[in-house]
Amino acid sequence: MAVIAIAGNPNAGKTSLFNHLTGTTQSVGNYPGVTVECKEGIARYDGRRIRVVDLPGTYSLTAYSQEELVARNFIIENGSDLVVDVVDASNLERNLYLAIQIMEMGAPLVLALNMVDVAKRRGFNLDHEKLSELLGIPVVPTVGNRGTGVKELLRQCVEAIDGQVPVLPRPVTYGHEVDDVVDTLAETLEAVPELGARYGPRWIAVKLLEEDAEVEKLVRELAGEEAESILEAARQAIYAIERHCGDACSTVIAERRYGYAAGIMQECMTLTGEARQLATDRIDTVVCNRFLGPVILVAVVAALFFAVFRISTEWAWIPWLDGWYSPVEWVEWQFEQLRAATDGLEPGAPMLHSLLSDALIAGVGGVLSFVPLIFTMFFFISALEDSGYIARVAFILDRVLQTFGLQGKSILAMIVSGGLGAGGCAVPGVMATRTLREEKDRLITMLVAPFMNCGAKLPVYAMLIAAFFPQHRARMMLLLWAFSWVVALCAAWVLRKFVIRGEQTPFVMELPPYHMPILRSLFLHTWERTWVYIKKAGTIILAINVLLWALMYFPRFPETAQPEVSLQTAEAPAATEAERAAQALAHSFAGRFGRTLEPVTQYAGFDWRTNIALVGGFMAKEVIVGTLGTVLAMGDVSPGQAESLSGRLAQDPAWDSLKAFALMVFVMVYAPCFVCIAVIRRESGSWAWAVFSTVYSTAIAFVLAVLIYQGGSLLGLGGL
Ligand code: GDP
Ligand code: MG
Repeated sequence: MAVIAIAGNPNAGKTSLFNHLTGTTQSVGNYPGVTVECKEGIARYDGRRIRVVDLPGTYSLTAYSQEELVARNFIIENGSDLVVDVVDASNLERNLYLAIQIMEMGAPLVLALNMVDVAKRRGFNLDHEKLSELLGIPVVPTVGNRGTGVKELLRQCVEAIDGQVPVLPRPVTYGHEVDDVVDTLAETLEAVPELGARYGPRWIAVKLLEEDAEVEKLVRELAGEEAESILEAARQAIYAIERHCGDACSTVIAERRYGYAAGIMQECMTLTGEARQLATDRIDTVVCNRFLGPVILVAVVAALFFAVFRISTEWAWIPWLDGWYSPVEWVEWQFEQLRAATDGLEPGAPMLHSLLSDALIAGVGGVLSFVPLIFTMFFFISALEDSGYIARVAFILDRVLQTFGLQGKSILAMIVSGGLGAGGCAVPGVMATRTLREEKDRLITMLVAPFMNCGAKLPVYAMLIAAFFPQHRARMMLLLWAFSWVVALCAAWVLRKFVIRGEQTPFVMELPPYHMPILRSLFLHTWERTWVYIKKAGTIILAINVLLWALMYFPRFPETAQPEVSLQTAEAPAATEAERAAQALAHSFAGRFGRTLEPVTQYAGFDWRTNIALVGGFMAKEVIVGTLGTVLAMGDVSPGQAESLSGRLAQDPAWDSLKAFALMVFVMVYAPCFVCIAVIRRESGSWAWAVFSTVYSTAIAFVLAVLIYQGGSLLGLGGL
């Protein structure tokens, strides 16, 4: 089966074209670097099947970042029959810089001239036939988000693969002084078939002139005895060019490439009308303003939380039987009915009843009842992503981040982890750190990204806020959002200062033009993310809940036994039913474990029941909601009285708003879930960092929770 590789700058529209070519859907993020792994799909043309690979987006093909290496190796190792380079027509010069490097590699190439709609709006008139003639390869104009031109692109690709049209690009020229040197070096390389024939002598020559470490390694490995003389010839050539041009050789080559790109631009582009100030530029003077930018950012996030809570939990707009419900209330109501329906089982099969009602319905239902909230949150975040605002957020926060020892590019990892609002995931966040060139920047980002509010923490907050701060939902979330950034930035500062010292690397943030999000793709994208949440609740969360339920149910507390400990909830001497239920829970494996931790955790305001939930949360943060649900449900003595989880929490005498706040902060900061820990271990390459991440996060979380609880108690905020 023929293989097509899609290369291009980040945000050029690779993924959009890939989706249209293959008919699959996948995330379309509007910030550079979200696609760190190659995605694959199958395109069909005239009954033929063609494999399509979406390479990571890069600006260049040096060996500095992992993405560049992935993309480059894929192309040179002949992983594909044809490369499709997606170039952003509205930003042609910069995009051609990459195209030229692919041309240097001598791979069969077709250019997808994408975003021609944007280019047109900006007043750029592009002659794609002229461009095709200049480069010697097919050029197809496309509009990636709408799929325009995709059929033609595929047709040209198939013809190219079949050898019907010429697709080998013309050799790139760097000006005669450099060209001469490249030619001489290439001749030497041609004598070594393992190198020359396989990788293209000119490409190797240029890379040697750029002092590319990977290629030097390759030469050492493959050229055998010839290796040293080739490298020596390269050193001589570099010296000659540097003396001639008075600048570092790699700089000279980069400049010549830009010159080549600028030349091509001049040839095939005309500007229509006067150079107008673009709408994007006009918006950006306000949105990216040094002072207004941060204010607008906070306002946007506040509006996001306000809208999300209004629509999903506060505003009762669903008519159902006897009245009006908000979406979250409506789902909760369904699960309460379901729970009440199992009450008939209690006398006959108490264990089955407890499993169904306490573990499955109260536990998993608790997590699922937040689906409407998650959906609305994801919807608005997707809209912000697709509009292009996220790149501006990165731009605005860049300076702040640098002050705290983080790289501007780290922001992307933070945003993927949930840094914009709440709802994201630290697992792809940690993986997104691959776009950072410096190992130290990567490590620091990896260690602080899990502090962001991921989609799993959201239901925990939502539940506690509903129970204790129902009047201040959006404000509370805004506070937690700001808090997560403060913790992450301070932690980054300390890590940079004391643990992972080193210089920060500078980074230029590009600002892609604003796009109007397309409703259909917004819904698709939102649904994909929500479905992941639902699936997780129905599988792994369910399994953990059942396990924890068993630990809370066994061993059974003997009916006749006297209470072995005196509990807060069981002070009355007469053994009431409530007391018995609490005793049974305290007697279970999980109860004993929770009580063992209580002497320590009490300083943070967590009793033994909260401890059970927090230990469960190590596996996945959603479990906290489920386990608290199960804990409360097992101690519940008024069966049949339908009551939501937050309602039960609010009425529990052992809880108050100060404890709830300390708990939310603890949940925000403490150890990443185990999937995330495994990813940190994989990405950092050592267990030591994974363990460090777990321990230091939990330590910070505990200190913060103690400070909040003890400080709040001193101020008289307890018991409210
Ligand atoms: P990638 O980073 O190269 O994979 O780029 P994406 O496919 O994720 O596209 C980035 C953004 O540009 C998305 O919001 C797309 O909807 C949008 N986009 C892609 N192609 C076009 C196009 O031809 N015209 C316009 N106006 N927007 C596009
Ligand atoms: Mg992409």
